Amino acid sequence: MINLEIPKKFKPLATQANQVATEVFRPISRRYDEAEHSYPKELDMLASLIDGMNEGSDNAAGAGGVRRESNGDGDSGNRNGSNLSTVLGIVELCWGDVGLLLTMPRQGLGNSAIASVATEEQLERYGGRWAAMAITEPEAGSDSAAIRTTAKLDGEEYVLNGEKIFVTSGDRADLIVVWASLDPSKGRAAIKSFIVERDNPGLKLDRLEHKLGIRASDTANFTLQDCRVPKEALLGSSEVEDKQGFGGAMQTFDNTRPLVAAMAVGVARASLERARELLAEAGLEIEYALPALSQPAAVCRYLEMEADYEAARLLTLQAAWMADNGKPNSLQASMAKAKAGRTCVEVALGCVELCGAAGYGEDELLEKWARDAKILDIFEGTQQIQLLIVARQLLGKSSAELR
Ligand SMILES: Cc1cc2nc3c(=O)[nH]c(=O)nc-3n(C[C@H](O)[C@H](O)[C@H](O)COP(=O)(O)OP(=O)(O)OC[C@H]3O[C@@H](n4cnc5c(N)ncnc54)[C@H](O)[C@@H]3O)c2cc1C
Repeated sequence: MINLEIPKKFKPLATQANQVATEVFRPISRRYDEAEHSYPKELDMLASLIDGMNEGSDNAAGAGGVRRESNGDGDSGNRNGSNLSTVLGIVELCWGDVGLLLTMPRQGLGNSAIASVATEEQLERYGGRWAAMAITEPEAGSDSAAIRTTAKLDGEEYVLNGEKIFVTSGDRADLIVVWASLDPSKGRAAIKSFIVERDNPGLKLDRLEHKLGIRASDTANFTLQDCRVPKEALLGSSEVEDKQGFGGAMQTFDNTRPLVAAMAVGVARASLERARELLAEAGLEIEYALPALSQPAAVCRYLEMEADYEAARLLTLQAAWMADNGKPNSLQASMAKAKAGRTCVEVALGCVELCGAAGYGEDELLEKWARDAKILDIFEGTQQIQLLIVARQLLGKSSAELR
């Protein structure tokens, strides 16, 4: 059974992550929001610290450590592993600043992808390096099975050709995990992920995006032109007929969606906490003992948002806990991502609204969090796509039957 308390062994990690958020992220949050595309050099030292914390431990603090654990028959035991610890760490760090977390060296979603599907040899080879994730293309966003980038075997190398857009940390990472098709005529089963070194001459940076939020994080667009990678750069099995083909690549999402949900939970909590302080300054205290009907409208609204936040948080913990215990969690990962993404946007904007001019001004981070929130409802699958996945799972329909 899931236990809703933070496991005792993860409390020090959550406390440390909160300290980092308070002492490192918050003080530089506004600066790097304004200085878009300049690298927050303060993070280098911090990343080494987190590497040290993670070394030899299965309690990961950043996004790089998640790995699907096998638990025998999947029914026995109750394991709190790297998925849950990572989620707890991310909530705290994103309470500090989600854009800075996204630009932390070696904590990219590409690192989670490698950790999720790489063989032991690949983990050995690519571990400890910073990896971004390149799935999206101009003609393939929500429908990731529609990607056009190809990978053709030529001797001992694959040759990649195509275009990738919106790659988070694409300019700063050491490696890019690129989704490409071995044979477009074979559909989704032929889609595989390949590790491309950032300095590969066949990988050309086209431009960096200017964005609404998470402006501390770089978002890069690339062209892959006759980009050669060694055969061993293919993650997982090269077998096209293998049923695990696209499913194997998609399995990454079962691990990474709870992480994005955790980012949303962190931003929502930051907004709620600051709004509560500002309401208190205005003489409004949140009362849990009184029925909502006998409280001021602003307090009722706050209580509603807090209940939504709590639901999002619990769904996120559940999805991560299931991954730690080897239980299939695609449904829960999508439910958590859908609920947390939507809640984060509604809560962040709701808090701006509740706090009036104070919430909207640049003297407060509430304004920034309201801008940062929206991406968490978009990347790793939009709100609408998560709901579609949930509906398919609940109704027992395939992606061809319900689209
Ligand atoms: C800042 C930023 C960072 C990103 N980082 C990365 C990254 O690191 N790696 C990466 O690969 N990608 C990344 N992305 C891309 C992101 O994952 C895509 O933007 C997202 O998947 C949506 O794809 P799209 O933008 O092409 O929108 P579309 O797929 O064109 O969708 C447009 C709208 O239509 C809706 N929609 C689409 N299909 C359906 C349907 N069947 N039913 C109902 N509604 C539907 C969508 O929900 C959305 O609201 C990033 C994007 C941004 C903005």
